[in-house]
Amino acid sequence: MTDKSQADIAPKRLSDAEIESNFGDMNPPLDRPEALVEADRCYFCFDAPCTTACPTGIDIPGFIQKIRSDNIKGSAHTILRENIMGGMCARVCPTEVLCEEACVRETLEEKPVRIGLLQRYATDAIYKSKLQLFERQPDSGKRVAVVGGGPASLSCAHRLACLGHQVTVLNAAEKVGGLNEYGIAAYKTIDNFAAAEAEYILSIGGIEVRNNVSLGTDFILEELRGEYDAVFLGFGMGGVNELGMENDQVDGIVDAVEYISELRQADKMSELPVGRKVLVIGGGMTAIDVAVQSKRLGAEEVTIAYRRGQEQMGASQHEQDFAQKSGVNIRRHLAPKQLLLDGNRVSGIEFEYTKVDAAGKLSGTGDTCAVESDVVFKAIGQKVLWDDLGNTADILDIENGRIGVDVNRKTSLPDVWAGGDCISGGEDLTVSAVQDGKLAGMDIDRFLRQ
Ligand SMILES: Cc1cc2nc3c(=O)[nH]c(=O)nc-3n(C[C@H](O)[C@H](O)[C@H](O)COP(=O)(O)OP(=O)(O)OC[C@H]3O[C@@H](n4cnc5c(N)ncnc54)[C@H](O)[C@@H]3O)c2cc1C
Ligand code: SF4
Repeated sequence: MTDKSQADIAPKRLSDAEIESNFGDMNPPLDRPEALVEADRCYFCFDAPCTTACPTGIDIPGFIQKIRSDNIKGSAHTILRENIMGGMCARVCPTEVLCEEACVRETLEEKPVRIGLLQRYATDAIYKSKLQLFERQPDSGKRVAVVGGGPASLSCAHRLACLGHQVTVLNAAEKVGGLNEYGIAAYKTIDNFAAAEAEYILSIGGIEVRNNVSLGTDFILEELRGEYDAVFLGFGMGGVNELGMENDQVDGIVDAVEYISELRQADKMSELPVGRKVLVIGGGMTAIDVAVQSKRLGAEEVTIAYRRGQEQMGASQHEQDFAQKSGVNIRRHLAPKQLLLDGNRVSGIEFEYTKVDAAGKLSGTGDTCAVESDVVFKAIGQKVLWDDLGNTADILDIENGRIGVDVNRKTSLPDVWAGGDCISGGEDLTVSAVQDGKLAGMDIDRFLRQ
Protein backbone atom coordinates (compact mmCIF):
# COMPACT_ATOMS: atom_id res chain seq x y z
CA MET A 1 0.00 0.00 0.00
CA THR A 2 1.57 3.31 -0.98
CA ASP A 3 -0.64 6.19 0.08
CA LYS A 4 0.12 6.58 3.76
CA SER A 5 -1.17 10.14 3.94
CA GLN A 6 -4.83 9.16 4.01
CA ALA A 7 -6.28 9.65 7.49
CA ASP A 8 -8.30 6.46 7.20
CA ILE A 9 -5.31 4.39 6.17
CA ALA A 10 -2.75 4.74 8.88
CA PRO A 11 -0.01 2.84 10.70
CA LYS A 12 0.12 2.32 14.46
CA ARG A 13 -3.56 1.66 15.00
CA LEU A 14 -2.46 -0.64 17.81
CA SER A 15 0.50 -0.61 20.17
CA ASP A 16 3.49 -2.89 19.56
CA ALA A 17 2.42 -5.00 22.53
CA GLU A 18 -1.08 -5.47 21.12
CA ILE A 19 0.32 -6.40 17.70
CA GLU A 20 2.72 -8.85 19.27
CA SER A 21 -0.10 -10.55 21.11
CA ASN A 22 -2.36 -10.55 17.99
CA PHE A 23 0.37 -12.16 15.90
CA GLY A 24 1.46 -14.80 18.41
CA ASP A 25 1.53 -18.51 17.56
CA MET A 26 -1.92 -19.49 16.27
CA ASN A 27 -1.64 -23.11 17.46
CA PRO A 28 0.95 -23.23 20.24
CA PRO A 29 3.08 -26.38 20.27
CA LEU A 30 2.47 -29.39 22.54
CA ASP A 31 4.89 -30.04 25.36
CA ARG A 32 6.11 -33.60 26.05
CA PRO A 33 3.33 -34.68 28.47
CA GLU A 34 0.66 -33.29 26.12
CA ALA A 35 2.26 -34.99 23.12
CA LEU A 36 2.38 -38.33 24.93
CA VAL A 37 -1.28 -38.10 25.93
CA GLU A 38 -2.25 -37.15 22.37
CA ALA A 39 -0.14 -39.92 20.84
CA ASP A 40 -1.88 -42.40 23.14
CA ARG A 41 -5.21 -41.51 21.54
CA CYS A 42 -4.11 -43.02 18.20
CA TYR A 43 -5.58 -46.46 17.37
CA PHE A 44 -2.66 -47.24 14.99
CA CYS A 45 -5.18 -48.25 12.37
CA PHE A 46 -4.29 -50.81 9.76
CA ASP A 47 -4.59 -49.12 6.30
CA ALA A 48 -4.63 -45.82 8.19
CA PRO A 49 -7.11 -43.46 6.48
CA CYS A 50 -5.11 -40.46 7.76
CA THR A 51 -2.09 -41.58 5.71
CA THR A 52 -4.24 -42.05 2.61
CA ALA A 53 -5.60 -38.51 3.08
CA CYS A 54 -2.12 -36.97 3.37
CA PRO A 55 -1.01 -35.68 -0.07
CA THR A 56 2.57 -36.67 0.77
CA GLY A 57 1.58 -40.10 2.17
CA ILE A 58 3.33 -39.73 5.56
CA ASP A 59 3.10 -42.93 7.66
CA ILE A 60 1.11 -41.15 10.38
CA PRO A 61 0.55 -44.04 12.82
CA GLY A 62 4.24 -44.88 12.33
CA PHE A 63 5.49 -41.47 13.45
CA ILE A 64 2.96 -41.28 16.28
CA GLN A 65 4.11 -44.67 17.57
CA LYS A 66 7.70 -43.35 17.69
CA ILE A 67 6.58 -40.32 19.69
CA ARG A 68 5.06 -42.74 22.23
CA SER A 69 8.41 -44.44 22.66
CA ASP A 70 10.23 -41.10 22.87
CA ASN A 71 12.06 -41.80 19.60
CA ILE A 72 11.77 -38.23 18.31
CA LYS A 73 14.56 -38.56 15.79
CA GLY A 74 12.94 -41.65 14.26
CA SER A 75 9.56 -39.95 14.28
CA ALA A 76 10.91 -36.87 12.47
CA HIS A 77 12.67 -39.09 9.94
CA THR A 78 9.39 -40.91 9.18
CA ILE A 79 7.78 -37.52 8.49
CA LEU A 80 10.58 -35.77 6.65
CA ARG A 81 11.50 -38.62 4.31
CA GLU A 82 8.04 -38.17 2.73
CA ASN A 83 7.65 -34.44 3.29
CA ILE A 84 10.79 -32.40 3.79
CA MET A 85 8.60 -29.43 4.78
CA GLY A 86 6.89 -31.46 7.49
CA GLY A 87 7.46 -28.58 9.93
CA MET A 88 5.72 -25.96 7.81
CA CYS A 89 2.96 -28.35 6.79
CA ALA A 90 2.33 -29.10 10.47
CA ARG A 91 1.60 -25.38 10.83
CA VAL A 92 -0.27 -24.53 7.63
CA CYS A 93 -1.98 -27.67 6.29
CA PRO A 94 -5.76 -27.51 6.42
CA THR A 95 -5.67 -30.75 8.44
CA GLU A 96 -9.41 -30.40 9.09
CA VAL A 97 -10.03 -31.40 5.46
CA LEU A 98 -7.04 -33.76 5.11
CA CYS A 99 -5.60 -36.22 7.69
CA GLU A 100 -7.66 -35.10 10.68
CA GLU A 101 -10.91 -35.25 8.73
CA ALA A 102 -10.08 -38.85 7.77
CA CYS A 103 -9.04 -39.87 11.31
CA VAL A 104 -11.33 -42.57 12.72
CA ARG A 105 -11.55 -40.63 15.97
CA GLU A 106 -13.14 -37.80 13.98
CA THR A 107 -15.69 -40.24 12.54
CA LEU A 108 -16.45 -41.81 15.92
CA GLU A 109 -16.20 -38.86 18.31
CA GLU A 110 -15.72 -35.75 16.18
CA LYS A 111 -12.41 -35.33 17.99
CA PRO A 112 -9.55 -36.40 15.74
CA VAL A 113 -6.05 -37.17 16.93
CA ARG A 114 -4.27 -33.81 16.66
CA ILE A 115 -1.95 -35.06 13.93
CA GLY A 116 -0.72 -31.61 12.88
CA LEU A 117 0.42 -30.73 16.39
CA LEU A 118 2.09 -34.12 16.88
CA GLN A 119 3.91 -33.66 13.57
CA ARG A 120 5.08 -30.28 14.77
CA TYR A 121 6.23 -31.76 18.08
CA ALA A 122 8.43 -34.31 16.29
CA THR A 123 9.89 -32.03 13.62
CA ASP A 124 10.51 -28.89 15.73
CA ALA A 125 13.00 -30.81 17.84
CA ILE A 126 15.04 -31.65 14.75
CA TYR A 127 15.04 -28.11 13.31
CA LYS A 128 16.08 -26.80 16.69
CA SER A 129 18.96 -29.24 17.07
CA LYS A 130 19.85 -28.94 13.33
CA LEU A 131 20.42 -32.68 13.34
CA GLN A 132 21.01 -33.92 9.79
CA LEU A 133 18.77 -36.93 9.14
CA PHE A 134 19.67 -37.55 5.52
CA GLU A 135 22.80 -38.60 3.73
CA ARG A 136 23.70 -37.77 0.13
CA GLN A 137 24.36 -40.58 -2.30
CA PRO A 138 27.70 -40.42 -4.15
CA ASP A 139 27.97 -37.67 -6.78
CA SER A 140 26.18 -38.71 -10.00
CA GLY A 141 27.98 -36.09 -12.08
CA LYS A 142 24.57 -34.78 -13.26
CA ARG A 143 23.38 -31.19 -12.92
CA VAL A 144 19.81 -30.02 -12.54
CA ALA A 145 18.41 -26.48 -12.70
CA VAL A 146 15.50 -25.78 -10.36
CA VAL A 147 13.59 -22.59 -11.17
CA GLY A 148 11.93 -20.97 -8.14
CA GLY A 149 12.64 -21.15 -4.42
CA GLY A 150 9.24 -22.14 -3.04
CA PRO A 151 8.03 -25.42 -1.51
CA ALA A 152 7.87 -27.26 -4.85
CA SER A 153 11.39 -26.24 -5.83
CA LEU A 154 13.02 -26.77 -2.42
CA SER A 155 11.41 -30.20 -2.11
CA CYS A 156 12.64 -31.17 -5.59
CA ALA A 157 16.11 -29.76 -4.88
CA HIS A 158 16.40 -31.68 -1.60
CA ARG A 159 15.32 -34.99 -3.16
CA LEU A 160 17.77 -34.55 -6.05
CA ALA A 161 20.60 -33.58 -3.70
CA CYS A 162 19.94 -36.69 -1.57
CA LEU A 163 20.10 -38.79 -4.73
CA GLY A 164 23.57 -37.43 -5.50
CA HIS A 165 22.85 -34.80 -8.16
CA GLN A 166 24.17 -31.24 -8.20
CA VAL A 167 21.34 -28.71 -8.04
CA THR A 168 21.23 -25.02 -8.88
CA VAL A 169 18.21 -23.14 -7.52
CA LEU A 170 17.43 -20.06 -9.62
CA ASN A 171 15.02 -17.90 -7.65
CA ALA A 172 13.51 -14.51 -8.53
CA ALA A 173 13.02 -13.34 -4.94
CA GLU A 174 15.59 -12.04 -2.49
CA LYS A 175 15.06 -15.02 -0.17
CA VAL A 176 14.12 -18.65 -0.74
CA GLY A 177 10.90 -20.11 0.66
CA GLY A 178 8.35 -18.75 -1.83
CA LEU A 179 4.99 -18.17 -0.21
CA ASN A 180 6.20 -19.85 3.00
CA GLU A 181 8.43 -16.80 3.40
CA TYR A 182 6.21 -14.16 1.74
CA GLY A 183 2.60 -15.41 1.78
CA ILE A 184 1.50 -17.62 4.67
CA ALA A 185 -0.28 -15.71 7.46
CA ALA A 186 2.19 -14.37 10.02
CA TYR A 187 0.49 -16.04 13.03
CA LYS A 188 0.84 -19.47 11.38
CA THR A 189 4.62 -19.27 11.11
CA ILE A 190 6.20 -17.16 13.81
CA ASP A 191 9.87 -16.62 14.68
CA ASN A 192 11.15 -16.81 11.09
CA PHE A 193 10.32 -20.48 10.90
CA ALA A 194 10.18 -20.47 7.07
CA ALA A 195 13.81 -19.33 6.89
CA ALA A 196 14.92 -21.88 9.52
CA GLU A 197 13.24 -24.69 7.62
CA ALA A 198 14.74 -23.62 4.28
CA GLU A 199 18.15 -23.47 5.92
CA TYR A 200 17.69 -27.01 7.24
CA ILE A 201 16.66 -28.26 3.78
CA LEU A 202 19.67 -26.64 2.10
CA SER A 203 22.07 -27.96 4.74
CA ILE A 204 22.01 -31.35 2.99
CA GLY A 205 24.65 -29.87 0.63
CA GLY A 206 24.92 -30.08 -3.15
CA ILE A 207 22.45 -27.23 -3.67
CA GLU A 208 23.68 -23.85 -4.93
CA VAL A 209 21.16 -21.04 -4.49
CA ARG A 210 21.10 -18.00 -6.75
CA ASN A 211 18.51 -15.46 -5.64
CA ASN A 212 17.37 -12.36 -7.57
CA VAL A 213 17.51 -14.10 -10.96
CA SER A 214 14.42 -14.70 -13.09
CA LEU A 215 13.37 -17.01 -15.85
CA GLY A 216 12.28 -14.74 -18.70
CA THR A 217 14.52 -11.83 -17.66
CA ASP A 218 17.95 -13.27 -16.88
CA PHE A 219 17.69 -16.54 -18.80
CA ILE A 220 15.22 -18.52 -20.87
CA LEU A 221 14.20 -22.15 -20.66
CA GLU A 222 16.15 -23.17 -23.78
CA GLU A 223 19.37 -21.90 -22.20
CA LEU A 224 18.79 -23.99 -19.07
CA ARG A 225 18.03 -27.08 -21.18
CA GLY A 226 21.35 -26.57 -22.98
CA GLU A 227 23.34 -26.04 -19.79
CA TYR A 228 21.81 -28.65 -17.42
CA ASP A 229 20.89 -32.34 -17.67
CA ALA A 230 17.31 -31.64 -16.53
CA VAL A 231 15.16 -28.68 -15.45
CA PHE A 232 12.42 -28.34 -12.82
CA LEU A 233 9.99 -25.40 -12.98
CA GLY A 234 8.38 -24.25 -9.73
CA PHE A 235 7.80 -20.55 -10.31
CA GLY A 236 4.32 -20.47 -8.71
CA MET A 237 1.80 -17.86 -9.80
CA GLY A 238 3.09 -14.31 -9.78
CA GLY A 239 -0.12 -12.44 -10.71
CA VAL A 240 -3.55 -11.89 -9.18
CA ASN A 241 -6.82 -11.78 -11.05
CA GLU A 242 -8.33 -8.35 -11.60
CA LEU A 243 -11.73 -7.37 -10.25
CA GLY A 244 -12.87 -6.61 -13.78
CA MET A 245 -14.77 -3.41 -12.96
CA GLU A 246 -14.43 -0.10 -14.72
CA ASN A 247 -11.71 2.19 -13.29
CA ASP A 248 -10.32 -0.50 -11.01
CA GLN A 249 -6.83 1.01 -11.17
CA VAL A 250 -7.66 3.76 -8.65
CA ASP A 251 -5.92 4.25 -5.30
CA GLY A 252 -7.00 2.03 -2.45
CA ILE A 253 -7.36 -1.15 -4.51
CA VAL A 254 -4.63 -3.45 -3.32
CA ASP A 255 -3.30 -6.87 -4.31
CA ALA A 256 -3.86 -8.99 -1.18
CA VAL A 257 -0.81 -11.20 -1.78
CA GLU A 258 1.45 -8.16 -2.14
CA TYR A 259 0.16 -6.67 1.10
CA ILE A 260 0.65 -9.94 2.98
CA SER A 261 4.18 -10.10 1.61
CA GLU A 262 4.88 -6.58 2.97
CA LEU A 263 3.47 -7.67 6.31
CA ARG A 264 5.57 -10.84 6.42
CA GLN A 265 8.74 -8.89 5.66
CA ALA A 266 8.02 -5.90 7.92
CA ASP A 267 10.55 -5.25 10.68
CA LYS A 268 7.75 -3.68 12.71
CA MET A 269 4.22 -4.72 11.84
CA SER A 270 2.79 -1.73 13.72
CA GLU A 271 4.32 0.55 11.04
CA LEU A 272 2.16 -1.00 8.31
CA PRO A 273 -0.65 1.27 7.16
CA VAL A 274 -4.07 -0.30 7.60
CA GLY A 275 -7.53 0.97 6.68
CA ARG A 276 -10.31 1.70 9.15
CA LYS A 277 -12.84 -0.04 6.91
CA VAL A 278 -11.40 -2.89 4.91
CA LEU A 279 -13.23 -4.79 2.19
CA VAL A 280 -11.88 -8.06 0.82
CA ILE A 281 -13.18 -9.55 -2.42
CA GLY A 282 -12.74 -13.32 -2.63
CA GLY A 283 -13.51 -16.55 -0.81
CA GLY A 284 -10.24 -18.49 -0.52
CA MET A 285 -7.37 -18.74 1.94
CA THR A 286 -5.85 -15.46 0.75
CA ALA A 287 -9.11 -13.63 1.43
CA ILE A 288 -9.32 -15.06 4.95
CA ASP A 289 -5.65 -14.31 5.65
CA VAL A 290 -5.69 -10.70 4.50
CA ALA A 291 -8.96 -10.06 6.33
CA VAL A 292 -7.85 -11.56 9.65
CA GLN A 293 -4.43 -9.91 9.50
CA SER A 294 -6.00 -6.50 8.74
CA LYS A 295 -8.25 -6.96 11.76
CA ARG A 296 -5.27 -7.92 13.93
CA LEU A 297 -3.39 -4.85 12.71
CA GLY A 298 -6.24 -2.72 14.04
CA ALA A 299 -8.77 -2.25 11.22
CA GLU A 300 -12.16 -1.39 12.72
CA GLU A 301 -14.45 -3.09 10.23
CA VAL A 302 -13.36 -5.89 7.97
CA THR A 303 -15.77 -7.46 5.49
CA ILE A 304 -15.20 -10.33 3.10
CA ALA A 305 -17.58 -10.28 0.14
CA TYR A 306 -17.98 -13.48 -1.85
CA ARG A 307 -20.22 -13.97 -4.85
CA ARG A 308 -21.41 -17.53 -4.14
CA GLY A 309 -22.56 -19.40 -1.02
CA GLN A 310 -20.76 -20.71 2.04
CA GLU A 311 -20.06 -24.16 0.61
CA GLN A 312 -18.48 -22.86 -2.57
CA MET A 313 -15.90 -20.79 -0.71
CA GLY A 314 -12.33 -21.98 -1.31
CA ALA A 315 -11.57 -21.48 2.40
CA SER A 316 -12.61 -24.42 4.57
CA GLN A 317 -15.44 -24.12 7.09
CA HIS A 318 -12.81 -24.13 9.83
CA GLU A 319 -11.08 -21.11 8.26
CA GLN A 320 -14.38 -19.29 7.75
CA ASP A 321 -15.23 -19.87 11.43
CA PHE A 322 -11.75 -18.69 12.42
CA ALA A 323 -12.23 -15.45 10.44
CA GLN A 324 -15.61 -14.82 12.01
CA LYS A 325 -14.27 -15.48 15.50
CA SER A 326 -11.52 -12.98 14.71
CA GLY A 327 -14.16 -10.32 14.08
CA VAL A 328 -14.37 -10.50 10.27
CA ASN A 329 -17.80 -10.13 8.75
CA ILE A 330 -18.34 -12.59 5.87
CA ARG A 331 -21.06 -11.62 3.40
CA ARG A 332 -21.96 -14.12 0.70
CA HIS A 333 -23.92 -13.93 -2.56
CA LEU A 334 -22.55 -10.48 -3.39
CA ALA A 335 -20.98 -9.78 -6.78
CA PRO A 336 -19.06 -6.51 -7.22
CA LYS A 337 -20.92 -4.26 -9.64
CA GLN A 338 -19.22 -0.91 -9.56
CA LEU A 339 -16.63 1.03 -7.64
CA LEU A 340 -17.66 3.95 -5.50
CA LEU A 341 -15.08 6.72 -5.77
CA ASP A 342 -13.95 9.71 -3.79
CA GLY A 343 -11.80 11.53 -6.39
CA ASN A 344 -9.21 9.02 -7.46
CA ARG A 345 -9.67 6.83 -4.37
CA VAL A 346 -11.99 3.97 -3.77
CA SER A 347 -14.63 4.67 -1.11
CA GLY A 348 -16.59 1.46 -1.42
CA ILE A 349 -18.21 -0.99 -3.79
CA GLU A 350 -21.74 -1.39 -5.01
CA PHE A 351 -22.68 -5.07 -5.09
CA GLU A 352 -25.47 -6.96 -6.77
CA TYR A 353 -27.02 -9.82 -4.79
CA THR A 354 -26.68 -13.17 -6.54
CA LYS A 355 -28.46 -16.49 -6.62
CA VAL A 356 -27.36 -19.90 -7.79
CA ASP A 357 -29.82 -22.13 -9.69
CA ALA A 358 -30.11 -25.94 -9.41
CA ALA A 359 -27.47 -26.37 -12.14
CA GLY A 360 -25.02 -24.20 -10.19
CA LYS A 361 -25.33 -21.22 -12.54
CA LEU A 362 -24.78 -17.85 -10.87
CA SER A 363 -26.93 -14.86 -11.77
CA GLY A 364 -27.69 -11.42 -10.35
CA THR A 365 -31.03 -10.76 -8.64
CA GLY A 366 -31.13 -7.09 -9.64
CA ASP A 367 -31.05 -5.97 -5.97
CA THR A 368 -27.99 -4.02 -4.89
CA CYS A 369 -26.24 -2.79 -1.77
CA ALA A 370 -23.16 -0.68 -1.08
CA VAL A 371 -20.30 -1.43 1.31
CA GLU A 372 -18.04 1.46 2.30
CA SER A 373 -14.29 0.94 2.52
CA ASP A 374 -10.96 2.76 2.61
CA VAL A 375 -9.16 -0.22 1.15
CA VAL A 376 -10.34 -2.98 -1.17
CA PHE A 377 -8.21 -6.12 -1.30
CA LYS A 378 -8.26 -8.20 -4.46
CA ALA A 379 -8.15 -11.85 -3.41
CA ILE A 380 -9.98 -13.59 -6.24
CA GLY A 381 -7.27 -16.00 -7.25
CA GLN A 382 -3.85 -15.94 -8.77
CA LYS A 383 -2.55 -16.63 -12.26
CA VAL A 384 0.74 -17.33 -13.99
CA LEU A 385 2.12 -14.20 -15.67
CA TRP A 386 3.28 -15.86 -18.88
CA ASP A 387 4.35 -12.56 -20.46
CA ASP A 388 7.12 -12.30 -17.83
CA LEU A 389 8.47 -15.78 -18.53
CA GLY A 390 9.97 -15.33 -22.00
CA ASN A 391 8.89 -17.97 -24.51
CA THR A 392 8.18 -20.64 -21.85
CA ALA A 393 4.49 -20.91 -22.78
CA ASP A 394 5.34 -21.33 -26.46
CA ILE A 395 7.44 -24.43 -25.96
CA LEU A 396 5.46 -26.22 -23.22
CA ASP A 397 1.94 -27.64 -23.28
CA ILE A 398 -0.29 -25.31 -21.28
CA GLU A 399 -3.62 -26.43 -19.81
CA ASN A 400 -6.05 -23.93 -18.30
CA GLY A 401 -3.34 -21.29 -18.04
CA ARG A 402 -0.88 -23.55 -16.21
CA ILE A 403 1.72 -26.14 -17.21
CA GLY A 404 0.38 -29.55 -18.24
CA VAL A 405 2.22 -32.46 -16.54
CA ASP A 406 1.87 -36.25 -16.27
CA VAL A 407 1.62 -38.24 -13.00
CA ASN A 408 5.37 -37.91 -12.46
CA ARG A 409 5.14 -34.13 -13.00
CA LYS A 410 6.94 -34.36 -16.33
CA THR A 411 5.99 -31.68 -18.86
CA SER A 412 5.61 -32.11 -22.62
CA LEU A 413 9.40 -31.65 -22.96
CA PRO A 414 11.53 -34.76 -22.28
CA ASP A 415 13.96 -33.05 -19.88
CA VAL A 416 11.64 -30.59 -18.09
CA TRP A 417 9.46 -31.24 -15.01
CA ALA A 418 7.19 -28.84 -13.13
CA GLY A 419 5.29 -28.69 -9.86
CA GLY A 420 3.44 -26.55 -7.34
CA ASP A 421 1.01 -23.78 -8.14
CA CYS A 422 2.24 -23.35 -11.72
CA ILE A 423 0.95 -26.76 -12.86
CA SER A 424 -2.53 -27.60 -14.01
CA GLY A 425 -4.79 -29.69 -11.76
CA GLY A 426 -2.98 -28.88 -8.50
CA GLU A 427 -4.58 -28.08 -5.18
CA ASP A 428 -2.68 -24.87 -4.45
CA LEU A 429 -1.51 -26.04 -1.04
CA THR A 430 2.00 -26.11 0.42
CA VAL A 431 1.77 -29.85 0.97
CA SER A 432 0.79 -30.55 -2.65
CA ALA A 433 3.68 -28.42 -3.89
CA VAL A 434 6.08 -30.43 -1.70
CA GLN A 435 4.66 -33.69 -3.09
CA ASP A 436 5.03 -32.42 -6.67
CA GLY A 437 8.67 -31.54 -6.05
CA LYS A 438 9.33 -34.94 -4.48
CA LEU A 439 7.68 -36.90 -7.32
CA ALA A 440 9.47 -34.82 -9.94
CA GLY A 441 12.81 -35.29 -8.15
CA MET A 442 12.38 -39.06 -8.15
CA ASP A 443 11.41 -39.13 -11.83
CA ILE A 444 14.30 -36.84 -12.79
CA ASP A 445 16.61 -39.28 -10.98
CA ARG A 446 15.21 -42.21 -13.03
CA PHE A 447 15.72 -40.16 -16.22
CA LEU A 448 19.30 -39.19 -15.33
CA ARG A 449 20.27 -42.78 -14.55
CA GLN A 450 18.84 -44.25 -17.75
C1 LIG B 1 -1.74 -15.53 0.89
C2 LIG B 1 -1.60 -17.00 0.77
C3 LIG B 1 -1.79 -17.79 1.89
C4 LIG B 1 -1.65 -19.19 1.78
N1 LIG B 1 -1.85 -19.93 2.90
C5 LIG B 1 -1.71 -21.28 2.82
C6 LIG B 1 -1.90 -22.09 3.97
O1 LIG B 1 -2.19 -21.61 5.06
N2 LIG B 1 -1.74 -23.43 3.82
C7 LIG B 1 -1.41 -24.01 2.63
O2 LIG B 1 -1.25 -25.24 2.56
N3 LIG B 1 -1.23 -23.26 1.52
C8 LIG B 1 -1.38 -21.91 1.59
N4 LIG B 1 -1.21 -21.15 0.47
C9 LIG B 1 -0.83 -21.81 -0.79
C10 LIG B 1 0.67 -22.17 -0.79
O3 LIG B 1 1.41 -21.10 -0.24
C11 LIG B 1 1.13 -22.47 -2.22
O4 LIG B 1 0.31 -23.49 -2.75
C12 LIG B 1 2.58 -22.91 -2.28
O5 LIG B 1 3.44 -21.93 -1.74
C13 LIG B 1 3.00 -23.20 -3.72
O6 LIG B 1 4.36 -23.46 -3.77
P1 LIG B 1 5.20 -23.20 -5.12
O7 LIG B 1 6.57 -23.65 -4.83
O8 LIG B 1 4.49 -23.78 -6.27
O9 LIG B 1 5.13 -21.64 -5.36
P2 LIG B 1 5.55 -20.36 -4.51
O10 LIG B 1 5.50 -20.62 -3.06
O11 LIG B 1 4.72 -19.26 -5.04
O12 LIG B 1 7.07 -20.12 -4.92
C14 LIG B 1 7.40 -19.70 -6.22
C15 LIG B 1 8.86 -19.36 -6.24
O13 LIG B 1 9.26 -19.07 -7.59
C16 LIG B 1 9.97 -17.86 -7.64
N5 LIG B 1 9.76 -17.30 -8.97
C17 LIG B 1 8.65 -16.70 -9.46
N6 LIG B 1 8.85 -16.34 -10.73
C18 LIG B 1 10.10 -16.73 -11.06
C19 LIG B 1 10.90 -16.61 -12.24
N7 LIG B 1 10.44 -16.04 -13.33
N8 LIG B 1 12.17 -17.09 -12.20
C20 LIG B 1 12.68 -17.67 -11.08
N9 LIG B 1 11.96 -17.79 -9.94
C21 LIG B 1 10.68 -17.34 -9.95
C22 LIG B 1 9.43 -17.04 -6.49
O14 LIG B 1 10.39 -16.09 -6.07
C23 LIG B 1 9.22 -18.13 -5.44
O15 LIG B 1 10.40 -18.38 -4.72
C24 LIG B 1 -1.34 -19.76 0.53
C25 LIG B 1 -1.17 -18.96 -0.59
C26 LIG B 1 -1.30 -17.60 -0.48
C27 LIG B 1 -1.14 -16.75 -1.70
S1 SF4 C 1 -6.85 -42.54 11.55
FE1 SF4 C 1 -6.53 -41.46 13.52
S2 SF4 C 1 -6.51 -43.13 15.00
FE2 SF4 C 1 -6.21 -44.12 13.01
S3 SF4 C 1 -3.97 -44.21 12.68
FE3 SF4 C 1 -4.65 -42.26 11.82
S4 SF4 C 1 -4.38 -40.79 13.50
FE4 SF4 C 1 -4.34 -42.83 14.43
